[in-house]
Amino acid sequence: MARVTYSLLERAKSQLLAELRHDIRDERVLAAIASVPREKFISDDLRAFAYDNRPLPIGHGQTISQPLIVAMMTEALDLKGGEKVLELGTGSGYQAAILAELTARVVTVERVAPLAEKAAAVLAELGYHNVQVHLAGDTLGWPDEAPYEGILVTAAAPAVPSALLEQLSPEGRLVIPVGTQDVQELLLATNGPGGLTARRLGPCRFVPLLGAGGWPTTDVGFPAL
Ligand code: SAH
Repeated sequence: MARVTYSLLERAKSQLLAELRHDIRDERVLAAIASVPREKFISDDLRAFAYDNRPLPIGHGQTISQPLIVAMMTEALDLKGGEKVLELGTGSGYQAAILAELTARVVTVERVAPLAEKAAAVLAELGYHNVQVHLAGDTLGWPDEAPYEGILVTAAAPAVPSALLEQLSPEGRLVIPVGTQDVQELLLATNGPGGLTARRLGPCRFVPLLGAGGWPTTDVGFPAL
């Protein structure tokens, strides 16, 4: 029985990869998606949907992102392998695992303690020892380890937070959904010699970034999942 389930998941994963190939060119990103077992980052009752190209609930009103969005955001960071990357919004830990496949060190920050604990446990169990999970403090991000060559924000912000630009290295790349609480545009911001430049990568919909640099914790219009 377990073997049947396994082969169904493997088949679903191959179908997902074929679908992602329409939009994702970076073979390293596709290989990372192929390596990371997404089913380990969701609850058992959702296991059959692990390789559907859609977000899934992970509890506490939060979601694991759609695989295409994970792949697009990761591709936009253009990682070469030696970078230190900051992720904001650990959630399930899945995006952190994808980053850990592609670069030397990943620092990831989460404001919901049970999610941070669960993600840290799953990442350790899978052997991702190059990921550090932190519980969010009062400041946005994780300035202690700055600067980062890449910063990836997996929650929606009303604007590009200056606190994150301060944690980005001079040549660094910041990928962040910016917009309203209903819909956002995925932006790639770079901190070049001529100042900040931003490129639009497409529309997206994320749960809100809360606290400093995001929305007030009392002002959230999202339905609970
Ligand atoms: N990257 C995750 C999905 C993230 S969902 C994955 O792969 O599963 C967005 C997450 O951002 C939620 O878990 C939410 O609690 C968290 N979050 C919201 N505001 C935050 C903040 N200011 N700092 C850190 N995490 C935050």
